[in-house]
Amino acid sequence: MKPKTKLIHGGIFGDEATGAVSTPIYQVSTYKQDGVGGLRQGYEYSRTGNPTRHALEELIKDIENGHAGFAFGSGMGAISSVMMMLGAGSHIVLTDDVYGGTYRVITKVLNTLGLEATFVDTSNPDNVTAAVKENTKAVFIETPTNPLLKVTDIAAVSAVAKEHGLLTIVDNTFTTPYFQNPLDLGADIVVHSATKYLGGHSDVVAGLVVVKNAKLAEKMHFVQNSVGAILGPQDSWLLIRGIKTLGIRMEEHEKNAKEIVAFLEKHEAVKKIHYPGIPSHPGHDIAKKQSRGFGGMISFDVGSAEKAVQVLEKIHYFTLAESLGAVESLISIPAKMTHASIPVDRRQELGITDGLVRISVGIEDIEDLLEDLAQALA
Ligand SMILES: *Cc1c(COP(=O)(O)O)cnc(C)c1O
Repeated sequence: MKPKTKLIHGGIFGDEATGAVSTPIYQVSTYKQDGVGGLRQGYEYSRTGNPTRHALEELIKDIENGHAGFAFGSGMGAISSVMMMLGAGSHIVLTDDVYGGTYRVITKVLNTLGLEATFVDTSNPDNVTAAVKENTKAVFIETPTNPLLKVTDIAAVSAVAKEHGLLTIVDNTFTTPYFQNPLDLGADIVVHSATKYLGGHSDVVAGLVVVKNAKLAEKMHFVQNSVGAILGPQDSWLLIRGIKTLGIRMEEHEKNAKEIVAFLEKHEAVKKIHYPGIPSHPGHDIAKKQSRGFGGMISFDVGSAEKAVQVLEKIHYFTLAESLGAVESLISIPAKMTHASIPVDRRQELGITDGLVRISVGIEDIEDLLEDLAQALA
């Protein structure tokens, strides 16, 4: 099956019982049993399994080429649940500029439960090798990163991890399974904030996990059912609906992003642009090798906090908001918003400057977006 077909025909198509072509919303918590333990279709209680959530889980499994999928109430719920599989006393190596929420849960919550972490620049796989300790259990990478769009070589890091018997976990939120499939490159687990491109319409908060084999699937289901951070049936349905158009949306996001990059490159107010599609971007070749597209996220430096604020005040079609990946264009200042939970000195270290503006390019007409950016930067 080709990618766009798979988004529509993957997983469980429609409803066997009625012929409905859209998966019904099974708004239910428990299921009638035919005698004690006599489950009709394997469902007993909706924390353990729900048909609408199951349809979504089968779909994400198929589009990430994995063994099993799992749906959670948020991306952080998904990431935390994956970490729960590692256990106290484990050490994990992570990309240094991971999503702020991931940094927070690792350094402020999971550390109190005995999970140790080291953050390194994973765009150089040697840094991963150097960080491995006796109790290291996993490597967690995000590529490209947020907001500097640094690229990590998934195959190279997976190879390092294998050598040391570690799991490779990839946050694939930014590139999406339409453009990148980490499991095909050697990773063991993929996580998503489905709140972003997969949902695509800024109307649902959700997280997804896909694992590579039966052993991980059993472990993941045990944690999902035990911790209970599951996604409800309504939101599962919204995600299935969103995923059907992921392909056409990603094509448009990227087309618009490329035009905006070309415009920003010529603009004198723009000091630096971060976009993996630019040939001079340090991660360009690796992104090209491991992904089928560069996506719709761009960040650029306008030199100062004052100028960044001015752009945000004047801009019209780009909505000032956290989050990304939806049909509408969004704009933010990472240092003040999405990355505010990262300490100032650490932000500076990472290069998340006060003048950095991040845009999530939507699928509006490009003429309107360019005109808007021109007047806001003037
Ligand atoms: C948003 C985001 C998350 C967290 O997901 P939520 O759905 O907001 O909990 C994790 N990773 C990345 C890359 C994100 O952009």
